[in-house]
Amino acid sequence: MNEKQRCLIIGSGPAGYTAAIYAARANLAPVLYEGLQPGGQLTTTTDVENFPGYPEGITGPELMEDLKKQATRFGADIRYGMVTSVDFSAAPYKVTVDNEKTIETETVIVATGATAKYLGLPDETKYAGGGVSACATCDGFFYRNMKVAVVGGGDTAAEEAMYLSNIAEKVYLIIRKDYMRASQIMQDRVMNNPKIEVLFEHEIVGLTGDRVVQGADLVKRRGKEDEEKVHIEIDGFFLAIGHKPNSDIFKPYLETDEVGYIKTIPGTPKTAIPGVFAAGDVADPHYRQAVTAAGTGCQAAIEAERYLTEKGL
Ligand code: NDP
Repeated sequence: MNEKQRCLIIGSGPAGYTAAIYAARANLAPVLYEGLQPGGQLTTTTDVENFPGYPEGITGPELMEDLKKQATRFGADIRYGMVTSVDFSAAPYKVTVDNEKTIETETVIVATGATAKYLGLPDETKYAGGGVSACATCDGFFYRNMKVAVVGGGDTAAEEAMYLSNIAEKVYLIIRKDYMRASQIMQDRVMNNPKIEVLFEHEIVGLTGDRVVQGADLVKRRGKEDEEKVHIEIDGFFLAIGHKPNSDIFKPYLETDEVGYIKTIPGTPKTAIPGVFAAGDVADPHYRQAVTAAGTGCQAAIEAERYLTEKGL
C-alpha cells in the first residue's frame, strides 16, 4: 500500500525548511524531500549578510544546516530524494519520488526554488566541466591566480565577481547594458575592487580554447556605429544571469507566469488547488530573498494546518 502523509514539503531551501519547522510544531508530522541540491541555492553562496539575526553574517551552508537542525528538532522527517512527478487531479494528492515510490498526501508545499540560467551558447555545453560554471563558490577554487570572467549585472554577478577576486588574478565582469542592476552597495564594492574590470555594453559571442576555456570572444556596443570585436584571455567563465523557477513538473496542474513562476493567490501561498501551496523562489518573481522565502514557507505551513483543521483531516 502507498505511504500516506498529511503534509509533504518539496524542497530544502529556506522556504522548505521554514515550512517544516512550522508544520512540525503544529503536529502535522511533515515529510520533506530535499531534492538534488540539499539546502538549496544558499549552499552555493558565501556570506549571507542580510538574513536578520546574524549581525556578523553567516555562511550560506551554515545557515541551511541550522535551519535543517531546527526542523529536525521538532520531528520533521527530512529525506533524500527527488520528486519526479505529481498528480494533483484529486485529493489526496500523489507525489512520486525518484520515479519509483508514490506517496499520498493531504497537503503539499512546493518549495523547489530556482536554478541558474545559461546563455544558451553551444560553447557552454562544449566546455562544460572545462572552465564553464554557474557557481563561483563551488568552482572558484580551481582558478587560483588565473583570469576569469563573470557574466551578468545583478547582485549575484557582483557577489560572484567579489568572491572570485579573492582567488583569481583578474576578474572581468561582462554586462550587456551600460549600467548594473545590482544594489548600490554591491556596485560600489565591484567598482572599487582593483582586480575587477567591468566591461559595460559587452556581449559574449563564444568561447575559445583547446578542450578547456582559454578565452572569450565579445562584441562591444553591438549594432552601434562603433561596434567592436573584443577578445579576452580567460581560464574560467562564470554565469550569473539569473534563475529559472523549478516548476516544470507542476505545470500540468498549477498555473505559472511566462517565466515559470507558480502563480498564487496574491498575498498568500495558496494555489488554485485547495491544499497545495507554493513558497519561496519558485513562486516569487519579485523578491527572491532567503528571508522572504522563509516567510512564505511559514505562511504555507500555517495555511496547510488551517486547511487540514477545516477538513477535519
Ligand atoms: P537578476 O535577474 O537580478 O540579474 C540578472 C543579470 O543578468 C542582469 O544584469 C541581466 O541583464 C543579466 N542577464 C540576463 N540574461 C542575460 C543574457 N542573456 N546575457 C547577458 N546578461 C544577461 O539576477 P540575480 O541572480 O543577480 O539576482 C536575483 C535576485 O536575488 C535579485 O533580486 C537580487 O537582488 C537577489 N540577490 C541578492 C543577493 C544579496 O542581497 N546578497 C545576492 C544575490 C542575489 P539586464 O539587466 O540587462 O537584464
